[in-house]
Amino acid sequence: MPENKDSDTIIRLLDDETVNTIAAGEVIERPASVVKELVENAVDAGADMIKVDITTDTQYVTSVQVSDTGCGMHASDAQMAFVRHATSKIRVPDDLSRIHTMGFRGEALASIAAVSRVTLVTRTADSDVGTEIVIEGGEILSVSDVSIPKGTTIRVDNIFYNTPARRKFLKSRQTELFHIYRAVEAEAFAHPESAFRLRVNGKEKLRTQRTTTIADTITQVFGTDLSTRIIPISAGTPVMRVDGAIVRPEDCRPNAGEIHLCVNGRPVTSPQIVRAIRAGYGTLIAKGRFPMAYLSIRIDSSLVDVNVHPAKREIRLSREKEIISGVADAIRDTLQTTDLIYGATPANAPAPPASVQASVYTHIPRQSLEVSESLPKTVNTSFGPASSEGFHIRYATTDKQLRLTGHMDEDAGVNLLPPMRIIGQVADLYILAASRENDELFIIDQHAAHERILYDQLCQQRDTNVQRQELLVPLVVELNPAEKLAVSANIDILLELGFIVDEFGPDAFAIRAVPMVLGKRLGTEMIHDIVSDLVIESRKSADERCDRIIATIACRGAIKGGSPLTPEQMERLILQLSHTSEPYTCPHGRPVILSYSEKEMDRMFHRT
Ligand code: ADP
Ligand code: MG
Repeated sequence: MPENKDSDTIIRLLDDETVNTIAAGEVIERPASVVKELVENAVDAGADMIKVDITTDTQYVTSVQVSDTGCGMHASDAQMAFVRHATSKIRVPDDLSRIHTMGFRGEALASIAAVSRVTLVTRTADSDVGTEIVIEGGEILSVSDVSIPKGTTIRVDNIFYNTPARRKFLKSRQTELFHIYRAVEAEAFAHPESAFRLRVNGKEKLRTQRTTTIADTITQVFGTDLSTRIIPISAGTPVMRVDGAIVRPEDCRPNAGEIHLCVNGRPVTSPQIVRAIRAGYGTLIAKGRFPMAYLSIRIDSSLVDVNVHPAKREIRLSREKEIISGVADAIRDTLQTTDLIYGATPANAPAPPASVQASVYTHIPRQSLEVSESLPKTVNTSFGPASSEGFHIRYATTDKQLRLTGHMDEDAGVNLLPPMRIIGQVADLYILAASRENDELFIIDQHAAHERILYDQLCQQRDTNVQRQELLVPLVVELNPAEKLAVSANIDILLELGFIVDEFGPDAFAIRAVPMVLGKRLGTEMIHDIVSDLVIESRKSADERCDRIIATIACRGAIKGGSPLTPEQMERLILQLSHTSEPYTCPHGRPVILSYSEKEMDRMFHRT
């Protein structure tokens, strides 16, 4: 290995003191980490074009190549680059508090070269000839002169060839491709000033041009459909600036998976910033839902500690409160000055009279969400009392829902609930019942109860065969590229759970069959919820992902609050509940039954 005596080299070995202050840990976890590190090196090299080429066989990602038009390296630096803790980006511990580059630890190339075969070709603008280095398992195999354009290309083959334990944990090709896609997408958002291109086996998967704004990059990645619906945001306080785009309240998701953040050009995850974004929407979106957002936040580099996570995915902020409230205010102000009428787009919406605008702004989004979530579409109870015909339809719908889980009525398994006598229903949601001895009161949440029943039933069926129903007209859902990859990677799980899903054109999937229990309750919103779960849970095991989908189906398929039940329906529901594995909690861990003994009631009424 080259020594660090040559004072001409740009890349230098960090001294021990600096090495000891950097966050240690595994940098290269999977092929996507290789992509991220190489792309960030290209960004640091000032490249205006960054090309990523992936090849796969039928099972695995077999090679990763990143080409850039950046500054390149001299021959001596090119060898130095592979030495652990050799970097051109910092010198002394103090430099860690003012980092303006993506990399700074001098670890990535050494870590990559240790577990694969790397071919590097590079040339600076001021050299006539370039350098090629081949290195395998950390050993330099050859160094030679080559004639190439200015810039750097690094090709990585045989990833993890000498670390069988790592190799064993590599996920399927689709899962790895999904992570690679997400990594490149995140860098493209973080660096609109560079053009990006991702190809997989020669096929282009993502392409962006150099632009100056994140909003332009969003249009390039997601096409015009989403870009007509986004709300550009640009705001600042003395400590920070936030630019990018958010979405209308009706475009929200069940998790924070479509909140893309970068801080000072670095893609990061930050629960605090996610909470701030959520807070900025306030009551415009329902509890438990999240907007989509693409935000680039700039903060003085002395206030951001990027040296807390081995893969640099997390950050620590000084003056966090100020920064967080700045983000929340920016979101709130932007939403307040935007015309949020459902379906209106900034470009073509006719402006309603001011008085209408004010009331629509505060009421429509919430109401439209709640109505669609809590009531079957056939019944309209939002205005005035329902007609008797309306009630009839509702009871019939509930009957159908209970029949789908009907075989649990007869299930002779253990009965985990005490016998009870139904007293009645309150608020179209809670069932009141008394114990047979008449000394205990039970309050049962009908939605949570049916959710538990469905969940248990789907889990049981999963081991044998989930009953599915074919849709007469397939439901076509449009998905973004990351979501499409997530669906492809999980097609087996979806099939196992009763969905039949086919690709439908370049941006969509057609749902041809769904689990029987969903009945008519299927809508694109629910599919989006399931897909978002798959995207966000992609790091989890197949079993955990499956469980999450079952919980979502159970929640969506269950009898809702707002459904009046007949005494007979209440009895059936409780009978079915008594045969579940855990009648006292729903799959999300919330209580299904509250009970008050006579003694407790006495105490509450100060009788003792
Ligand atoms: P770090 O990025 O933390 O400095 P790396 O191991 O990723 O550590 O890279 C080591 C050094 O190699 C960098 O500091 C940089 O000087 C040089 N280097 C790596 N990739 C490139 C590239 N694509 N273009 C120019 N220089 C590069
Ligand atoms: Mg680096």
